[in-house]
Amino acid sequence: MDDSSTFAPLTEEADGLAQILASIPPAPAKPTALANLLGHFTGEELKATVPSPPFDCSSMDGYALGVGSSGFDKGDTFRLVDAAAPAGSAAGNIGPGEAMRIFTGAPIPSGTHAVAMQEDVVLDDSEIRLSEGYQSGEFIRRAGADLCQGQLLLHTGNRITPQRLAALASQGRASFPASPRTPVGVLTTGDELIPPGSERAPAQIYNSNASLVGALVEQAGGRVSGAAHGIDDRAQLLEVTRPLLESSDFLVSCGGVSVGDHDHVRWLVNELGFETVFWRVNMQPGKPFLFAAHPDGKWFFGLPGNPASALVCFHRFVAPAIRHRMGATTALVPPPTVLAILGSDVASKGMRPHYLRGSLVQGIFQPLGLQQSHAIAGMAASDALLRIPADTALAEGSKIDVSRL
Ligand code: AMP
Ligand code: MG
Repeated sequence: MDDSSTFAPLTEEADGLAQILASIPPAPAKPTALANLLGHFTGEELKATVPSPPFDCSSMDGYALGVGSSGFDKGDTFRLVDAAAPAGSAAGNIGPGEAMRIFTGAPIPSGTHAVAMQEDVVLDDSEIRLSEGYQSGEFIRRAGADLCQGQLLLHTGNRITPQRLAALASQGRASFPASPRTPVGVLTTGDELIPPGSERAPAQIYNSNASLVGALVEQAGGRVSGAAHGIDDRAQLLEVTRPLLESSDFLVSCGGVSVGDHDHVRWLVNELGFETVFWRVNMQPGKPFLFAAHPDGKWFFGLPGNPASALVCFHRFVAPAIRHRMGATTALVPPPTVLAILGSDVASKGMRPHYLRGSLVQGIFQPLGLQQSHAIAGMAASDALLRIPADTALAEGSKIDVSRL
């Protein structure tokens, strides 16, 4: 069949992604408890209110040495004053010729020249003697040296990592604004599909996309709000899809989006009141991909049924949409790429860009297994995706950008 005479031209991938992002506003940010924030994006910027360190403190277990003492050289002695402050209280002060026991992180007594680490000190009853000389300020961490009050700590749209959770906690924040995990309904379709764990008849195949897409939703930061399987029957498809729509912002379907007699997804999208923004993209695999928007603020992503097509389209369109919906800063929305070296010759034949699944080991990308859209074996071992522009041959050793799966 000559596609160009039958249908509108294929949408270019970059245009498709731009249309998706333009159609979907970020969800409003809500206060979110620290324990639930991992994998979200910061809904506002954060300026430090608690400096780091919050007070001058010791960076060693040792002895604070009183300023104005006669010397701080090897052999100099100091009288030990026993006024060690309990944790969380101010440290008092020391005078010339005096030293005070101190531990890592504890506040520095006023009148301190430096902290001598205990390895450099000989303790003799109520006196200490230095076995090394000490410059002013040694082993003292100054208040605000790491982070001062008012300093920008987090930008809006940063991914919240364990490290950023630590920064929020250090500021005394028990919660922080973030858009919720996007609720995504997952719909698989097809008479031939049966769930894993059931007995398989000769012409049946196990439903692998339900697992694939559910996991991809979670990996992208979204939340599977419901899942259903529809047979290739319009009434039944509609019946199983309606409740999914109720509980979700995004609906992701697999299969039934092409032009076969059993492909009812385009009908379904229409019947549910969505407007198709684009259908069919200039890429391989993934050509039948569909995106539609509902006036009630819901969005439909129709993935092709073959697992590799579903993976590539999800990676290219749905994951960015989830990140965007969750308030990610623009730079974090497209799939992140890394520089790699191509491990073997590859080529795309024809007018569509090709996506190859493969492994990325020590900077070398190696395509794995069959690259047809139904192939599962190579995909299972793949952790990266290479995009080859249309009608292009790339030689082994070429520098390439790959995105991580
Ligand atoms: P379709 O577009 O519905 O004709 O699907 C294209 C191909 O993908 C067919 O060979 C289907 O059997 C296969 N397929 C569709 N959905 C799934 C699924 N959920 N899991 C595994 N294979 C699927
Ligand atoms: Mg089907």
